[in-house]
Amino acid sequence: MTPMVAAQSVGKSFGALHVLNGVSLEVARGEVACLIGPSGSGKSTFLRCVNHLERINSGRLYVDGELMGYRERGDKLYELSPKQAARQRRDIGMVFQHFNLFPHRTALENIVEAPILVAGKPRAEAVEQARDLLDQVGLADRADHYPSQLSGGQQQRVAIARALAMEPKLMLFDEPTSALDPELVGDVLAVMRRLAADGMTMLVVTHEMGFAREVADQLVFMDDGRVVERGNPREMLANPQHERTQAFLAKLL
Ligand code: ADP
Ligand code: MG
Repeated sequence: MTPMVAAQSVGKSFGALHVLNGVSLEVARGEVACLIGPSGSGKSTFLRCVNHLERINSGRLYVDGELMGYRERGDKLYELSPKQAARQRRDIGMVFQHFNLFPHRTALENIVEAPILVAGKPRAEAVEQARDLLDQVGLADRADHYPSQLSGGQQQRVAIARALAMEPKLMLFDEPTSALDPELVGDVLAVMRRLAADGMTMLVVTHEMGFAREVADQLVFMDDGRVVERGNPREMLANPQHERTQAFLAKLL
């Protein structure tokens, strides 16, 4: 079966700075992959390339069998129009470290925005779906709160609900709990755990090794813009093969 994400020797530079140096990996449908690695190793850049928020310089990146951002003809690539790229991106949810909710909109309004404006859903239907999603993330009673009236953990759960409202086939998480006070991390991870159990395909950059061990099907260690090692999380955490993985995990655990 076609993997949900297939990266083949993906390269990305910012000017002279080579950030991704041939990243290859696959995430199967329904799989949860956790991406770990030192700061600056290219994890965020890779996630941004997956939904074509960044343009790759070499290699190929496929989501659900579709080349992201380009059309392939022979061995030549032609860039998609912004509209076509936006259409591809619509099926991919992304959750950031810093929630990025609209500050002047309530939790509910944050969630219904894209379904109404981008997907053209009737308002009543979008509102009903948003209430259902708020319920799923444990915030049914916070629909009319503004982001500033919510804790960081609650804001992040609204951000997850907002991403889910577009009914994505893939969810990308970029250190979703790194900005949270420790006591708020658990509620967010619980929502992600449930999402994983429901079969969502997820690519998660995280430092939460407990989550990686218990929830991930695949652990990917990146360093210096490369995938150094990937495999079964339990095996990799117990017995990392590569020296750099060993050094990184030794500092973390
Ligand atoms: P990570 O998420 O693993 O910490 P990043 O992908 O954020 O790593 O960054 C990898 C490298 O790319 C860093 O050196 C960072 O400064 C650089 N970088 C990221 N985005 C840009 C950008 N838009 N312009 C220039 N350099 C960037
Ligand atoms: Mg990052």
